[in-house]
Amino acid sequence: MGRWNGVERDEKDEEEEEEEKDTTFTNIPPHIKKTTRPSEFLLNHLGQVDVGHHKNKVTLSENCKLTQKEEMAKDTYEEAIEGLRKLLSENGGLEAAAAAKVKQLTAELAGAAENKAFNPDERIRTGFHLFKKEKYEKDPALFGALAKSQSPKFLVFACSDSRVCPSHILNFQPGEAFMVRNIANMVPPYDLTKYSGMGAAIEYAVVHLKVENILVIGHSCCGGIKGLMSIPDDGTIQSDFIEDWVKICKTAKAKVQAENKNLDFTEQCTQLEKEAVNVSLANLLSYPFVAEAAAKKTLALKGGHYDFVKGSFELWNLDFNVSPSLSF
Ligand SMILES: [Zn+2]
Repeated sequence: MGRWNGVERDEKDEEEEEEEKDTTFTNIPPHIKKTTRPSEFLLNHLGQVDVGHHKNKVTLSENCKLTQKEEMAKDTYEEAIEGLRKLLSENGGLEAAAAAKVKQLTAELAGAAENKAFNPDERIRTGFHLFKKEKYEKDPALFGALAKSQSPKFLVFACSDSRVCPSHILNFQPGEAFMVRNIANMVPPYDLTKYSGMGAAIEYAVVHLKVENILVIGHSCCGGIKGLMSIPDDGTIQSDFIEDWVKICKTAKAKVQAENKNLDFTEQCTQLEKEAVNVSLANLLSYPFVAEAAAKKTLALKGGHYDFVKGSFELWNLDFNVSPSLSF
């Protein structure tokens, strides 16, 4: 416990509280009112205030950015609400829609303030203590060996989505899987000028750690895949990074659209979640060290799809065929 730095609290109190909170630790409500600072909450929602049909929309947006740093320094709901009121009143006509939004936010935040605020530091501390007590201290042989080196069998690509952590869904233990997570679990093609973070991870895993398997895992209801499917035919994009990133798998999108014209949008997205994995597997072969290890059969490339609605997992080997060889 003493090793946890940065939290200046009495250790005895911590232990007592820990006892009480062990049961609640796994059941933290995800509601935004408990996960977002009041000033952030307001600013996030301010973007949704409809002051449209009016030139104030631009002014409001600019002011929102300008005041963000100021707002971040505020600690109370009252200050944040007051800041929002001031911001809106300075924008000339506090229009009815905006005023109504402020009223709604004020009511919501008042409700949130009645509940105990989510404490991220405490959540992290509790999580680490649980891991240390239940895993680290119970397996000194494993963690002793891992302190010296790692020799993972897998390099895993998974989506950044909070619901699909491979260590949970495949029970990977420390030392088992070298992990890369990004939007829509995509592997970009070999390129010395772009995507260097991805290239470095692949190179380190294959060349230095000599992993024996690369597994790319897609998943159900993937927002990144939906984003790719939603890019209009003229290629117009609206985000700074997201759409440009997911376009890595645009050939998969073209294939799915051509071969599944009878499917609706959601069904096409499901197909694309799998087909994009195949494009990523093909892209892996554009890395010379991956192609070499695969040719020598010291490295296997595998695709997977985790469906968290059905609670199932499909697994297939690199053959550019979505038909699963295993399903469980
Ligand atoms: Zn995803």
